[in-house]
Amino acid sequence: MMFQCDRCGLCCQNLDKSELYRDLDRGDGTCRYLVNHECSIYESRPLLCRVDECYERFFSGEYTRNEYYELNYKICKKLKEGEDLSCHCH
Ligand code: SF4
Ligand code: SF4
Repeated sequence: MMFQCDRCGLCCQNLDKSELYRDLDRGDGTCRYLVNHECSIYESRPLLCRVDECYERFFSGEYTRNEYYELNYKICKKLKEGEDLSCHCH
């Protein structure tokens, strides 16, 4: 099982919702590596951008994989619906 990301790029345009992504933020909440709505360093993107690896490294003691995916899918959904978010968990 893997996290199902449709690569809409919305999370990469809302980095200012979390301090963790500050180094990637080009200054307006969008990642400096997002080019034409795609990650230009996808194969070598940071660990924080990798949902499955983040789960394995940081969250597997706290959540089941499905629970963690659901938390992430909720954020994807909110981003797609244009809701303002105060947190960003992956
Ligand atoms: S918002 Fe969700 S679906 Fe869109 S790119 Fe980010 S993780 Fe993938
Ligand atoms: S490095 Fe890539 S996946 Fe990570 S926030 Fe930037 S554009 Fe998105």
